[in-house]
Amino acid sequence: MQRTSDYVADEAAMLDHGAALAKTLRGDELIALEGELGAGKTTLARGVLRGLGFVGPVKSPTYTLVEPYEFGAIRVYHFDFYRIRDPEELEYVGLDDLLAERAIKLVEWPERAFGRLPTPQCSIRIRVQGSGRVVETTIPEGKRRIDR
Ligand code: ADP
Ligand code: MG
Repeated sequence: MQRTSDYVADEAAMLDHGAALAKTLRGDELIALEGELGAGKTTLARGVLRGLGFVGPVKSPTYTLVEPYEFGAIRVYHFDFYRIRDPEELEYVGLDDLLAERAIKLVEWPERAFGRLPTPQCSIRIRVQGSGRVVETTIPEGKRRIDR
């Protein structure tokens, strides 16, 4: 297992952190984004999308459960399971089919997906510290090492 911890001072630095993560991706990863409400998960996801070259708005999938992106050869699904109440909602959005696609999957609140997610290539936990955030990145054993 490989773990790194970074202090990320503000929103702009969080976008940069996401963009740096984007440069390590091949296009078929599951990235778990953990942390309390307001931690900065959506901001980090926005940074990943920017780093991949997406220029449009990145809105929180809180109400839609998933926001899809497709630009050039890149496909991204941004999930947010905060509001999920029932596993049937996962069937409704077609979770299994989306997970099977070659795409980058960014998942907020993965712990609320009723155990339906495979082991992520990368788990990111964000904690508030002072006016900034600590971002801890874990690559589980057996998953591809992400070069940074
Ligand atoms: P979440 O998706 O975890 O609920 P958001 O990404 O919506 O959180 O961010 C919540 C707030 O935290 C936003 O106002 C955002 O600008 C701010 N924020 C994000 N990253 C940082 C950071 N590294 N330092 C300080 N504030 C941040
Ligand atoms: Mg969010």
